[in-house]
Amino acid sequence: MKKVFISADIEGTTFTMNWDETMPGRHDYERSRQQMTNEVIAAAEGAHAAGADLVVIRDAHGPGINIYPEQLPEYTELIRGWGRDPLGMVEGIDNTFDAIFFVGYHNAAGLDGNVLSHTISGSTVQSITVNGEIASEFLIYSYTAAYYGVPSVLLTGDKELCDTGKKNYPGLVTVAVKEGTGGRSKGISPSLACKKIRSAAAEALQQDLNRAKITLPESFHIELTYKDHAKAYTKSFYPGARLLKPNCIGFDTDDWYEVNRFLTFVI
Ligand SMILES: [Zn+2]
Repeated sequence: MKKVFISADIEGTTFTMNWDETMPGRHDYERSRQQMTNEVIAAAEGAHAAGADLVVIRDAHGPGINIYPEQLPEYTELIRGWGRDPLGMVEGIDNTFDAIFFVGYHNAAGLDGNVLSHTISGSTVQSITVNGEIASEFLIYSYTAAYYGVPSVLLTGDKELCDTGKKNYPGLVTVAVKEGTGGRSKGISPSLACKKIRSAAAEALQQDLNRAKITLPESFHIELTYKDHAKAYTKSFYPGARLLKPNCIGFDTDDWYEVNRFLTFVI
């Protein structure tokens, strides 16, 4: 009896590489959402094969209505839309889950490795650092999962993100489905991506999940640099935040949940 949470994004699926392909109603979006659905199903199938009897999938891209619900297996539940609570891309997670998978994830704002690198909001955020390191959405939300004692065991997306993730998470199994260089993207075959994700998901869940847990740092220093300096000025009035540079605010806490709350209100 295992219960798995999947947080799914679209910019780290195998071929999606421009913003139109990620937005409902725009050119080639339907192809991207089908591939996102396929990669999520592959991860769920791998989890099921390794003993998961419930897989809760959080559609965590854009409006949260990308994955085709009618294609999902019976042992899954799908979270759509946004409650806009501080848990963001892992809204719905709690301490009852045995593991979390991150599928279709992408590199952070300020880094190469994915044509669509960004963090939480491509239009607002220049970069976010946590204790001096550039933080990706994977880092932020895997910390949130760790806050609830849930280990991050699978990460699929671009190679640079996968390589960074592997360094810090002892039990993380990764599948690099694409590589980005500047505005260019090279992806593996969509069907091969699903095959690799299916077997990696099973492998990830079969390990000793306790050993895959990470210990969160004791304190957190966050720096958020905005694309617009005027926004930094306004958001510097968030309780506990301060203006570090005209376009950058800082925030310190020893409680990761407060970082989630901060990010929800200042982005
Ligand atoms: Zn996204």
